[in-house]
Amino acid sequence: MSKVKKNRASERHVTAASAMRDASRYLMNTYQRPPVVFVRGQGCHVYDHRGRKYLDFLGGIAVNALGHAHPRLLRVIRREAGRAIHFSNLYHNSFQGPLARRLTAWSGMDRAFFTNSGTEAVDGALKLARLTARKHGATEKTRILALEHSFHGRTFGALSVTHPLSYREPFEPLVPGVEFVRGNDVADLEAKFDDSVCALIVEVLQGEGGIYPLSGPFWTRARELATHYGAALIADEIQSGLGRTGRPFAYQRHIGLPDIAVIAKPIAGGLPLGAILARGDYAEAFAPGLHGTTFGGGPLTCAVGLEFLNIVEDENLLENVRARGAQLRAGLSRLTAEFDFIREVRGEGLMLGLDLSVDGRIYPKAALRHGLLINCTHTHVLRLLPPFIVTERQVDEFLARFRVVLAQTKRPAPYIPEPADPAPAHSFAGVR
Ligand code: PLP
Repeated sequence: MSKVKKNRASERHVTAASAMRDASRYLMNTYQRPPVVFVRGQGCHVYDHRGRKYLDFLGGIAVNALGHAHPRLLRVIRREAGRAIHFSNLYHNSFQGPLARRLTAWSGMDRAFFTNSGTEAVDGALKLARLTARKHGATEKTRILALEHSFHGRTFGALSVTHPLSYREPFEPLVPGVEFVRGNDVADLEAKFDDSVCALIVEVLQGEGGIYPLSGPFWTRARELATHYGAALIADEIQSGLGRTGRPFAYQRHIGLPDIAVIAKPIAGGLPLGAILARGDYAEAFAPGLHGTTFGGGPLTCAVGLEFLNIVEDENLLENVRARGAQLRAGLSRLTAEFDFIREVRGEGLMLGLDLSVDGRIYPKAALRHGLLINCTHTHVLRLLPPFIVTERQVDEFLARFRVVLAQTKRPAPYIPEPADPAPAHSFAGVR
């Protein structure tokens, strides 16, 4: 290696070491990170500070749906950043209205409001449900139903409808009037629904909670009850939406639309953008001054959002999500025969989870050592969220390397659910 190259390599190394030192000294203590600094990505791969290559089957937790450095997204980012990064929402920009139009076509909703994140979209959707009930003269109609094992975000509104106690309890009191319903338990839903409910919020395919799908009968009854009592059925599609399941929205597998859908994660290719999508009265409830945001829906993020939708359509990526999802699922199912601690493979498209009978938290670290990015959620579910552009060869490569990870890692202790936060009931089992 030439002297110059050697210096550059060591400079990168020092930079990474000092980045980690600064992080541990100056960042608040919210994440337990491995000693790796990612410096760039290309397609389905990311590279760390040592130049080591990883196959990314986590995709920024469902954000990098087009992988890394997609040339068409880069072209739009470069072009539009040179024109305008931000204009105030007091004025029109060229892309916000057109992106709203495209999203209404994808979702079946009527109007959009853009946000910066998923949690902000959830909070806005809950406000929208309460406001609409109030506009209909029902001032006491403020209760909100959510599902056990849900995850909707970290701000106070979204946290109030997030189920695990460990997330909520340290921050109580939260927004009052929230009650949790057992997933896929129609009788429990019926018992808790009445005229005082203004909203029921659900993830059609629960992500953080462990990749648990809602059943058709539960969705149908939720739709009926929401209509009957004049409450908003809110679909949180922040993780499952915009193509991840192989359909534009996960709820499109069921009959009947939600009243409100919230999205975020992949829409602007990693730039922060989310949206509340609503139909009917819910789409008309906000009036100037009632809701707003500084950053949400800026020209750059909306231009990228439009290009994201164009690419998914032009490159037929929903078809790829379905095909690669089926390939990955079949491969994972084969592993269940070999490793008796894999209880079940769940999910749809490229949103898949392996339910383990052991504590799975060791596996993301072991996978990292083998050059794979995966995640463990709810202590015992390994979650895979690869980019929509993943190829047949990359799925095969993942499966081969993942098998080695499972085989070479010392079997962890059995998973024991926390008494205050038990694993979802078997009422979810068998729902595909
Ligand atoms: N809702 C769901 C289903 C999510 O998966 C997430 C994030 O993981 C959120 C809401 C919160 O989104 P954000 O982190 O952008 O605030």
